[in-house]
Amino acid sequence: MKTPLPDYLAHVIDACDTDNRGNLADYIPELANANPNRLALALSTVDGEIYSVGDDEIEFTIQSMSKPFTYAYVLQQLGIDAVLEKVGVEPSGEAFNEISLGKDRRPKNPMINSGAITTHSLIPPKEDVSGAEILRQFMSELAGRELQFDDAVYESEVKTAYRNLSIGYMLRTVGILESNPVDIVNGYIRQCAILVTVKDLVRMGSVFANGGVDPKTGKRLLNRAVVRQVLSVMMSCGMYDAAGDWLTTVGIPAKSGVAGGILGVLPGQVSIAAFSPRLDEHGNSVRGIDIMERLSRDMGLHLMEGTPSAQTIVQSHYRTGKDASLSVYVLRGVLKFTEAEMLLRTLQCEPDDNSSIVIDLSQISLIHDVGKRMFLEGIDRLIDDGHSLLLVDPEQRLDNARTHKDRVLHVYQNLEDLIEKHKEL
Ligand code: GLU
Repeated sequence: MKTPLPDYLAHVIDACDTDNRGNLADYIPELANANPNRLALALSTVDGEIYSVGDDEIEFTIQSMSKPFTYAYVLQQLGIDAVLEKVGVEPSGEAFNEISLGKDRRPKNPMINSGAITTHSLIPPKEDVSGAEILRQFMSELAGRELQFDDAVYESEVKTAYRNLSIGYMLRTVGILESNPVDIVNGYIRQCAILVTVKDLVRMGSVFANGGVDPKTGKRLLNRAVVRQVLSVMMSCGMYDAAGDWLTTVGIPAKSGVAGGILGVLPGQVSIAAFSPRLDEHGNSVRGIDIMERLSRDMGLHLMEGTPSAQTIVQSHYRTGKDASLSVYVLRGVLKFTEAEMLLRTLQCEPDDNSSIVIDLSQISLIHDVGKRMFLEGIDRLIDDGHSLLLVDPEQRLDNARTHKDRVLHVYQNLEDLIEKHKEL
């Protein structure tokens, strides 16, 4: 059997192939030379499997899709509060290159140019390494390969960067930029000239989808709080003055770039990237939007559809052992707030009979922090009621199950052994 996913993705781009609406971005002269017919789509699962179709080996400049990565980099380096002092998080409802500031004289958000130029200026300096080069190295680590700059696109944009320079001077005037605005704007333009394919983009996006851990290497590259901040801002501000339309129709945190790329990241699920250079009046890829709308609809990816809890946290419950003195709970699925609440409600029905309670966690796929805290609190209460607690936790995801009252519980590798050992109890 071959998974049908590549066929499905090929079908999606075929369905969009004949749409020739939109125009190439020509305010950057080099981008006007792009082949307007290019079309590519890639998807990465949260565990790092990449599927791609169409012109998936073609490189194009990342442009504004660099903005969330720069934002992530400075948040990680400086902390969220320090970055918030310089750049807000309010959707602007304005064009990407609007010469504007919020009422508090900060750029409204890091996804429009004024905010992105500011975040570029916040990259902590390293001796002899430019901000753009620091970002190239950071994005290369996320992409799992050495990314390069497109010097022709960079030169071409720098020569005609009047509007971004105006933004830079405005930011310098109000003290948001603290050094030479020309250097900062040039650095920002260079960060936009990093070359990527759709496969690179989804690999980079998979680190966001996976809460900051690179699913290919298992290495944590970003804090969870940083990823949450970046994705929130992508959701509310990533599609410029079309952000509201995007939220209702696609509902996936995303960022577009004027070379024709769109990157979408659905936390805990997928990252998706489309590439097609013809743009609509907002500067977003026409066919890219169509592709994302289709994927969101077909695959039920809209964030607001939510994922209902599996409601099966307790897979089975039975009594065994001598005089049925062992009460066994086998758990399955993800232990977050909703499931932990269900579990505690079920455990609440245990009679106060000093019996031993066995909880098998070996089939739990993920224990969220809140799930862990609620679980350990429940266990403490069961012990207070006079029960003995025996856990099956082969991966020791409960840190050897020390409860907040510092009780070390009996932890076993598997349920069969445990039941065997307690047969006579
Ligand atoms: N380098 C482009 C600019 O600043 C990026 C804009 C975009 O991709 O939306 O104008």
